[in-house]
Amino acid sequence: MKLLFILFSFIFVLHSAASEKTLDLSIPNKQIGNALSVYEDKSGQLDFAQIEQLPSDLFIPLDHAVDGHLFTTSAFWYRFEVNNSEKLPVDRLIVMEIPWINSIDITVLHNNVLISTMSGGNNYPYHQRAVEDHFPNFKHSFLPGVSTVYIKVMTQDPFIVPISIVDRETFLSDKAEASSYTGFIYGFLVSILLYNLFLYFSIKTRYYALYVLYVGSFILANMAYNGFTFKLFFADYPQLQNWAQSTTIFLFSICGLLFTQSFLNLKEHSPSLNRITQFFILFFVVMMLSTAIAGYHYHVMFSIGLSVVFSFYVLGIAIYSLLIGNRSAKFFLFGTMSSLIGTSVTALTVMALVPYTDIGFKALDYGMVMDAILLSLALADRVRITNEEKAIAQREAKTDMLTGLLNRRAYYEICTREIELAHEYGTNLSVIMFDIDHFKNINDVYGHAAGDKVLQYFAVVLKHELRESDYVFRVGGEEFLVLMPYTKSEDAVLFASRIRAEVDDVQINVDDNDIVFTVSGGVAEYKMEDGKYIHAVERRADEALYRAKWAGRNNISR
Ligand code: GH3
Ligand code: MG
Ligand code: MG
Repeated sequence: MKLLFILFSFIFVLHSAASEKTLDLSIPNKQIGNALSVYEDKSGQLDFAQIEQLPSDLFIPLDHAVDGHLFTTSAFWYRFEVNNSEKLPVDRLIVMEIPWINSIDITVLHNNVLISTMSGGNNYPYHQRAVEDHFPNFKHSFLPGVSTVYIKVMTQDPFIVPISIVDRETFLSDKAEASSYTGFIYGFLVSILLYNLFLYFSIKTRYYALYVLYVGSFILANMAYNGFTFKLFFADYPQLQNWAQSTTIFLFSICGLLFTQSFLNLKEHSPSLNRITQFFILFFVVMMLSTAIAGYHYHVMFSIGLSVVFSFYVLGIAIYSLLIGNRSAKFFLFGTMSSLIGTSVTALTVMALVPYTDIGFKALDYGMVMDAILLSLALADRVRITNEEKAIAQREAKTDMLTGLLNRRAYYEICTREIELAHEYGTNLSVIMFDIDHFKNINDVYGHAAGDKVLQYFAVVLKHELRESDYVFRVGGEEFLVLMPYTKSEDAVLFASRIRAEVDDVQINVDDNDIVFTVSGGVAEYKMEDGKYIHAVERRADEALYRAKWAGRNNISR
């Protein structure tokens, strides 16, 4: 029985020891939530003297590393104990590892005697911090033995409380590590921004400019809520810093909506969705202004809450656009999915709707980097698609639709080039003008469609017989011109005769009709005195063709 009692008291002692964890100052203590007890003062009015009078068991142990609450007007009082096992006082920094907390009041007791009180946070000028850093921090010299620390936290911003107690060296090395992370993120995003700005100036497409705005507004918002703008622009104006945080988050959502609207080309793909998006943008602007009038509390609350709405809305219209067959939506989805998930995760983390983690807090950073990589690829891909379409259009402009041969437009371009070469280097060049005999009859007897088949068939014969260096053009209804660089007229005549004989030999079957047809051809060779123009040689080929027709057709003449 006695043994049982000892066992019980042992377990009890162990248990109470676990909940009354005293922090050891000889090591860095990061995110000390598990060592904290917390009391919520809903009135936000109590001062330290009143808190000290409260029954101790109103302070409830916090069971996680970082405390967090949805937007609140309460004051939260955190209490914990630290032990300095040295014989001399040690300097330690108490760090609030979140940049935007407005009001932090710290009271340190040693043997129930008040040793120090300190106040700080984003309601105070930047230079008042112990170490100039975007995280509010306080220096205290802890006396040997156990001290009790009370930290009162109040803020209208997202209520996240990651507290650390570290020595200066640890703090500075953490800071250096964080700086290289920040440097990487900003360096990367700024280069993406410049890249797209450059694309905008060279291509002048609206969505590049809007993408630059979107990335730019992200960088601004990120700098603001991470407290970098505090140091850079508003060191002596804490209230401006506070407003900058929520305003830039609003701007980020608005720029995101504008970019989405433009990139997905909603105006053309879905006018109704375009109108809704326009309304949405207006709604965000109105909310930004009206909550600014209603007060800072509402401005912050809506800027962050609406950023989640923005994410889901954009995701929704991207999926919808994809479903109605908008091709750019595919790239867009890949790209923005990551930043949209990032926005939601970070917003939900800071609103304490999901448990706090560093990764959750930085999700938006990672998301934006992924977004920037994928969207830049997508934007580049769109340039490629546009160029390809242009090339196809150019090719089509020079191609005859019925036969797939080059057309008259291509003829002048290529002839000019080849004649210039022949003129410059004195090389041979011949031209054959083919014309199908009595083609009008074929149309009249078998129909226009059958006539088309004959034209296509003749085009195949020509293409099949042609050498690598030759060109064939459909220059008229049933007139075909063959351009043969490096060829004397004798050889061109041989070639033309072979074609004529081949055509004469076949009959093509169209709609159960066996059609036979013949061709005539006129050959001419380029002469130096023709100059750099095709006209003279083309005219001579035409004259030769006329002679071939006159001689009875199914004939080649020179
Ligand atoms: P010739 O032996 O003197 O060359 O007589 P022809 O009937 O071939 O010459 P003509 O120039 O009188 O007639 C050419 C015909 O070709 C007239 C026109 O309707 C027809 N034609 C022109 N383009 C096309 C086409 O793309 N498809 C078809 N089926 N017929 C065409
Ligand atoms: Mg003809
Ligand atoms: Mg003709």
